[in-house]
Amino acid sequence: MKFLADRTTGKLARKLRALGFDVVSLAGGPLEEAARAASSQGRMLLTRSRRLAGKDVNIRVTVVEADNPREQVREVLAKLNLQPPAPQFFSRCLMCNETLLPVPKEEVEGRVPDFIYRSYDSFHTCPRCRRVFWPGTHLQRMKREMVQTVARRNSEDFGEGGRAS
Ligand SMILES: [Zn+2]
Repeated sequence: MKFLADRTTGKLARKLRALGFDVVSLAGGPLEEAARAASSQGRMLLTRSRRLAGKDVNIRVTVVEADNPREQVREVLAKLNLQPPAPQFFSRCLMCNETLLPVPKEEVEGRVPDFIYRSYDSFHTCPRCRRVFWPGTHLQRMKREMVQTVARRNSEDFGEGGRAS
């Protein structure tokens, strides 16, 4: 499932990308514009706005109710009954949504802190923004968080979600 996040769900978008989901962000513009873009690109719109809920719009939309981005991830996974496959975790740039590419260690010398360069052998880079990613503590923490998120979601009921009309 592909997503489009409007400006109210930017942090959620980054967390979903960390799980490997394809999430395009629209940083500005009215909700209607985000809805049109989602529709034309065949994406599920993620928004905190309820404005589309009562309208006759022919798009798929999930209205996010939780405040905390971590809770929002849980909510979206539960509402859409999604189970992110662990191998896809951190396969995308958190900022650009591009699929990360493996990069030889010697090519990141000078582009990451020295202690990072010495500590890791596996690096990935984003083809768009050129950021370098490595399996550091941040990754481990996020993975743990996501595993907990996925494990806990079955015990709570967020109800049905999916379509606005
Ligand atoms: Zn990037």
